Amino acid sequence: MTGTASPALASYAAIEDAAELVRKAKRAVVLTGAGISTPSGIPDFRSDGTGLWSRDEPLQVASLMSFRTAPERFFQWFRPLAGQIFYAKANAAHLALAELEEAGRVETIITQNIDALHQKAGSKCVVETHGTLRTLTCTNCYQKYDSEPYLKTFIEEGLAPTCSACNGILKPDVILFGEQLPHAAWVTAQRAVRQCDLMLVAGSSLEVLPVAGLPMQALDRGAHLIVVNNTPTYVNVRADVVIMDDVASILPEIAKRALHG
Ligand SMILES: [Zn+2]
Repeated sequence: MTGTASPALASYAAIEDAAELVRKAKRAVVLTGAGISTPSGIPDFRSDGTGLWSRDEPLQVASLMSFRTAPERFFQWFRPLAGQIFYAKANAAHLALAELEEAGRVETIITQNIDALHQKAGSKCVVETHGTLRTLTCTNCYQKYDSEPYLKTFIEEGLAPTCSACNGILKPDVILFGEQLPHAAWVTAQRAVRQCDLMLVAGSSLEVLPVAGLPMQALDRGAHLIVVNNTPTYVNVRADVVIMDDVASILPEIAKRALHG
C-alpha cells in the first residue's frame, strides 16, 4: 500500500486551512502515532480487531517483567513485527513531513513509533518517545548495539540476539509495558511542545499517556492545533483544523499547498 487515494472533496477546504497554519507557523511540531505507519504495512498495536494487542495479551509477552523472565517468548511474539518493521518503507505521509522539515516548516517530529520510518524518509529532528528498534542494549552488561545486523539474523533465523561481550540477551531499545519513557526524549519532547506555536497531530488517536497529553499542553500555551487521523481524538473539539482521513493522502496535500501555494 502506498496510500495514494485522493482525499474526500469535503477535506479540501480543511487542507487549505491546515496549509495556511503551517505557512504562518514559526515553530511547528508534529506528533505522530501508529496511524502514520499503517500505510507502510506496520500494524497498529492497539486498534481493535486488527492490532497485535487484540491477538496476544500484551502484558504477558511485551512487558518488562515477562521479557526478564521469558525473553524467548517475547522474541517469538516480536519476530513477525520486527520483520515488518525491518523491511518497511516510508510512505507519502513520512515523506511529506520530511519535505516540510527540509524546507524549515517543521522543527521537530515527536513520534510514538519505534519503526524509524521518519528517519528513513529523511527527517532529522525526530524524538522517539517510545524508544526505537534501531538499537539494542545488553540486559547484562548494558553494552549498546546497532540493531541492523542482529535484527536481520533474528528475523531470518529466529535466534534471540545476544551480546558478543558477555553473551547476555540483547533487548530492543523499545519501551515495553511497565517501562518508563526514555528520559532524554521526553524532556526534549516537552521542550519542543512548550516552544511551538503549531502542533500537527498525524496518525495518532491520542490514547496513550503521557504523550497523548502533549497537544493539550500546546493548546494551553496558545499554539494552534491540526489533527489528521482516521478516528476521533479527545482534542478534536479544541483543534483549529480536524481532518478525519488517511494521513498518507492528506499530509502530501497539506505539504504541497504549504510549500508551493
Ligand atoms: Zn553484555
